[in-house]
Amino acid sequence: QAKAAGRNTVGFFDPQLQAAVTDKAALEADLRLALEQDELFLVYQTQHDAQTALTGVEALARWKHPQRGMVSPAAFIPLAEETGLILELGRQVLLQACSLLATWQDHSATQHLTMAVNVSVRQFKHPGFVQQIQETLALTGAKPSQLKLELTESLLADDIELIIHKMEALQAFGVSFSLDDFGTGYSSLSYLKRLPLDQLKIDQSFVRDVLTDPNDAVIARTIIGLGQSLGLNVIAEGVENDEQRAFLAQHGCAAYQGYLFGRPIPAEQLVQFLSLPAAANG
Ligand code: C2E
Ligand code: MG
Ligand code: MG
Ligand code: MG
Repeated sequence: QAKAAGRNTVGFFDPQLQAAVTDKAALEADLRLALEQDELFLVYQTQHDAQTALTGVEALARWKHPQRGMVSPAAFIPLAEETGLILELGRQVLLQACSLLATWQDHSATQHLTMAVNVSVRQFKHPGFVQQIQETLALTGAKPSQLKLELTESLLADDIELIIHKMEALQAFGVSFSLDDFGTGYSSLSYLKRLPLDQLKIDQSFVRDVLTDPNDAVIARTIIGLGQSLGLNVIAEGVENDEQRAFLAQHGCAAYQGYLFGRPIPAEQLVQFLSLPAAANG
């Protein structure tokens, strides 16, 4: 019978598939442990205005696995979303980011800066999310007006009324929103107008070849124009050189983030960079 199934059938013992499944299960178990043992930490990448002045940072999760070394967020974030571990991961990220943010308000050099935190769809849709944000801000003493949540277009796939309602509740509380990786998803323009957004973030895939690929240039310019029409700040991510920055500036882009300005850095380094007291690293 096995023979009749044909040679191209993926059998139960396909070694490659089996290895992939085992590896994924192992990684999931390790991620669970990492979350229990506080192995995840945040790095921070600066964001800048049209005059290249510092306006804030984006917090990015990092995981240093004891054996595997650094695991890419491109691997562990989707895994966390799939398994539901994103709820605990998101809770830890928010707590770490807000703890650091709380130290900024007493210093004139930092009290205007924002902390952007990535929020996954599953996390945002969780019924306790609004309360979690409010509690974390209250617990840490961070100011809502300095917290910016980065959402992605995939959030807009369904339950749009509920999403808008939640965003409005958080906005009323003082929190602001950026739409991350903009242009890669399926935003409906009619929804976009209704969302209480403050910022659109041009995805780095359009920024990368903006000087050489006319399609990317058109997309970047269209997003900038769209932002201007809707009264939204537009930030470009993945800006690596001054030619890209100049092109985007010439077309009205007013904010930037990328290796041109700096790589993501650990909290201790950011605290030094901002010249905050040493005790300030949350
Ligand atoms: P993202 O939010 O779009 O973050 C931007 C990614 O681009 C980061 O990758 C950043 O390190 C990288 N990047 C920044 N500047 C440059 C540049 O000039 N050139 C290039 N080539 N890359 C640049 P990273 O840290 O690997 O994060 C990847 C993604 O993982 C993030 O994309 C975000 O979607 C997700 N992620 C990271 N941390 C979190 C988190 O705490 N929660 C959630 N839900 N997702 C997270
Ligand atoms: Mg982001
Ligand atoms: Mg992005
Ligand atoms: Mg991205």
